[in-house]
Amino acid sequence: MADVSDVAPGDVVTVLDSGGRFIGRGLFNPRPALCCRIFTWADEALDEAWLGRRVQAAVGAREGIGREAVRLVWSEADGVPGLVVDRYGPALAVQCLTLGVARWREAIIAALRRSVGDLPVAGADDVAMAALEGFTPASGWLDRPGPDEIVVDEAGVRLGVRPGAGQKTGLYLDQAENRPRVAAADGRGTILDVFAYAGGFACHALVAGAARAVCVESSPEAVAAARRNFELNGVAGRAEVRAVNAFDELRRLDRERERFDLIVLDPPPFARGRTALAAALRGYKEINLRALRLLAPGGRLATFSCSHHVDETTFEATCRDAAADAGVRVRVIGHLPQAADHPVLLTVPETRYLKGLLLEAL
Ligand code: SAH
Repeated sequence: MADVSDVAPGDVVTVLDSGGRFIGRGLFNPRPALCCRIFTWADEALDEAWLGRRVQAAVGAREGIGREAVRLVWSEADGVPGLVVDRYGPALAVQCLTLGVARWREAIIAALRRSVGDLPVAGADDVAMAALEGFTPASGWLDRPGPDEIVVDEAGVRLGVRPGAGQKTGLYLDQAENRPRVAAADGRGTILDVFAYAGGFACHALVAGAARAVCVESSPEAVAAARRNFELNGVAGRAEVRAVNAFDELRRLDRERERFDLIVLDPPPFARGRTALAAALRGYKEINLRALRLLAPGGRLATFSCSHHVDETTFEATCRDAAADAGVRVRVIGHLPQAADHPVLLTVPETRYLKGLLLEAL
């Protein structure tokens, strides 16, 4: 029997238990902490036909979603660990997160085109993951050029995207259902969109009739994308983007005693690993405390955590502490989970990573 030393990184391996019984089949790579990702618990070949069936099943599961920008394949949750595929209208963005999946890239693209049509495909590999796994990250249009910019409709709001450029694969699709929902919860007042990226929450609120929006975002590329989105929706005259650090800006607004009717807090994952948890919770508490103090009477706060290591209960407890310290009584109007195209596997709790609360100041 072959042992691990005969196996090349990225190869398909069969995993047996100590008694030699079949457990599953997956892709091997000794470099990352997780040396094998299991793709099937059935004794079947991991070949192109298998890949085509998994891709087709994932695409089929999105049929009722009806958005132009939609996640078609989401890693473990779709049975293809390490692969993310997003559709942006007439184009696809493919993100390979492991060496084994990166080696399958051509077969993946062929399977996708059989399922959704002959669309241009952009690479959106994560540079840090590629370095950890040991492959060359793919970026830009892969085998043929696609459009410079695609404008997708998201519940009546126009969002510009360059697939494979910017953060994620172009847009934060996990918030696609929350953006219109949070905007609908607003009156006609002012919105503060903190950690705004391309200003999606602010665009939805302005299109829904908000009087004014202030976005806070530190990345220059994201600031430019937000300004572009305001133009695309004809709301630039009511929108302002501040290219500053959100922590500093929240403190400053608090000092100035500004007030907002709707505030969105959608920070990056503060806890990237378990060891960073305590510092992350201090960060969540700080921004939520400030935001709650900035709410006008009856104002609403949509607050999120996308850290895998912060579960829903811990996040709620942190918001509760922030409300107590801010001296604000809040009512829970709703929970704001990740969009339906990011399905949760009951057996893999980490797949439920986006937690959100819609709160109202009493
Ligand atoms: N709400 C957005 C997604 C936000 S992602 C949407 O719906 O599309 C988090 C954003 O926070 C990123 O764009 C990142 O650039 C920004 N960011 C990270 N740290 C920041 C900081 N300290 N101050 C301001 N923005 C920050």
